[in-house]
Amino acid sequence: MESALDYHTAKALLEWQIELGATECIGADPVNRYELPAKAPKPAAPANEPVPVAAAPKVDPVQVAKAAAEGAKSLEALRDAMDSYAHCDLRNGARSLVFSDGMPHARVMVVGEAPGREEDTQGKPFVGRAGQLLDRMFAAIEMRRDAPDRDKAMYIANVLPWRPPQNRDPKPEEVAMMLPFLERHIALANPDVLVLMGNHSCNALLGRRGITRLRGNWQEVLGKPALPMFHPAYLLRNPIAKREAWHDLLSLQSKLRDLA
Ligand code: URA
Repeated sequence: MESALDYHTAKALLEWQIELGATECIGADPVNRYELPAKAPKPAAPANEPVPVAAAPKVDPVQVAKAAAEGAKSLEALRDAMDSYAHCDLRNGARSLVFSDGMPHARVMVVGEAPGREEDTQGKPFVGRAGQLLDRMFAAIEMRRDAPDRDKAMYIANVLPWRPPQNRDPKPEEVAMMLPFLERHIALANPDVLVLMGNHSCNALLGRRGITRLRGNWQEVLGKPALPMFHPAYLLRNPIAKREAWHDLLSLQSKLRDLA
């Protein structure tokens, strides 16, 4: 069968399927489903009889998300509500719901963008290269996701809990429908301060982008102090910006002291 795909596109599609979990090819020969016999058409309604029109119920995914998020009275319930939320297509291509890591109710909650490949595989946020840098950054101010003490611990979640295909940017409609869950997540975790990692986190929670200007300037999100910072993935590509990141970590440390 002649394919309209070139070699590189076909290879990329195959790799994407393998990444989604396909482990075997179940047919030796390709099946052209467009050439399968069409299903028998439905019998026409008798003349003069009104044709019933099934009115598709209109669902607003954001309203559904709001109701589900508000109904969650604990972090576990919120996780279940997100797991049952069917309106975000990203879930179909992801292996895991990446909900959070670290100590719930830690003083600091870090909000990232979305899981990448490693996070999707392990079901935990920030476990790839960017995550390892994040851990080193916070270790420099003596904070760890697994610290037993609330003062030294961090809690980590993302704007989106499912990995976007090929790590593409989140779409506005995906962010809009997952935002009620993120807001509820923050309310239930109830940290003293938020750290907004990168543009997508700032866009979701502040409605603003432009991390170069925003970083280091304290904002307020849901009544809590929120510090925009460069995303660790950006710092991996631009190590020179680690100087600003260090400045922001010191600012975070000092804010935590002031609030203690
Ligand atoms: N980048 C993010 O923003 N979040 C993750 O969980 C991993 C990488």
